[in-house]
Amino acid sequence: MSEQRSSRRFPLPLERVASGSARRGEVQRPQRPLQDAAHDARVRLAPSGVGLDSAQVRERMVQRLQAQGLRHEAVLRALRAVPRHEFIDTALAAQAYEDTSLPIGHEQTISKPSVVGHMLAVLLAGSAARARGGLGKVLEIGTGCGYQCALLAQLGDSVISIERIRALFDKARTQLAPLRLDRVRLVFGDGLRGHAPNAPYHSIIAAAVGDEPAPAWLEQLAIGGRLIAPVRRGGAQVLAVVDRDTAGYRRVDLDEVHFVPLKSGVD
Ligand code: SAH
Repeated sequence: MSEQRSSRRFPLPLERVASGSARRGEVQRPQRPLQDAAHDARVRLAPSGVGLDSAQVRERMVQRLQAQGLRHEAVLRALRAVPRHEFIDTALAAQAYEDTSLPIGHEQTISKPSVVGHMLAVLLAGSAARARGGLGKVLEIGTGCGYQCALLAQLGDSVISIERIRALFDKARTQLAPLRLDRVRLVFGDGLRGHAPNAPYHSIIAAAVGDEPAPAWLEQLAIGGRLIAPVRRGGAQVLAVVDRDTAGYRRVDLDEVHFVPLKSGVD
């Protein structure tokens, strides 16, 4: 059953899942519709539409991350391809390729490229991802400005990304539209519940910190799948990596990190 589900195509317009009493499951067409697959999104994203300068600055960022130990070729390629400056306010664009988190409004931040790169490399080392040569079907909790979502689209077969703040959901939709990532579906809702209709996922990644990985994420993780999520430990935060196999779940805690909090419900 899971294999049938995982072969579902994503011709996807962006989806709005309204919360609470409002129209759950309603599909909202984007203002500028994403086009269905004429080309592979990975090809389409590559430097087209990005000025030479930004490509060069981005290349320097990638070289710095490489020097810090990020070695995964596919991740480096994705970081080279996605124009981070187009996901943040123009006033901050000069800092777009520094290894720093930046405000994206509504008290949220876009994560540091080194942390995002590290998390993606860890996800790619999961057993389903290694077997498939990519992240497979991905669930992202916390779309934020959409930057990490665009990276995930380079590395997976399809991406469901959930955001609980309406204004950020709208912003991400606008910012991702020019990239025409036809295998990305943005969902407005509470990511603590995951997104059951498309489960199971080979890769799950959370961009906000909770006390534990949410039970719904564990349930929606495929056998062989890997989840990575920041969690609180003592007064600090660490990256929890959970693998699921036929025997159950195994969790390992990695590096200390700093993420904004997961919140329940929607704003
Ligand atoms: N990956 C993002 C980082 C965004 S910061 C980027 O590249 O910009 C974390 C995001 O998680 C915020 O936008 C916040 O609103 C969102 N978030 C927090 N709790 C959430 C929840 N329960 N469901 C969905 N999104 C959530």
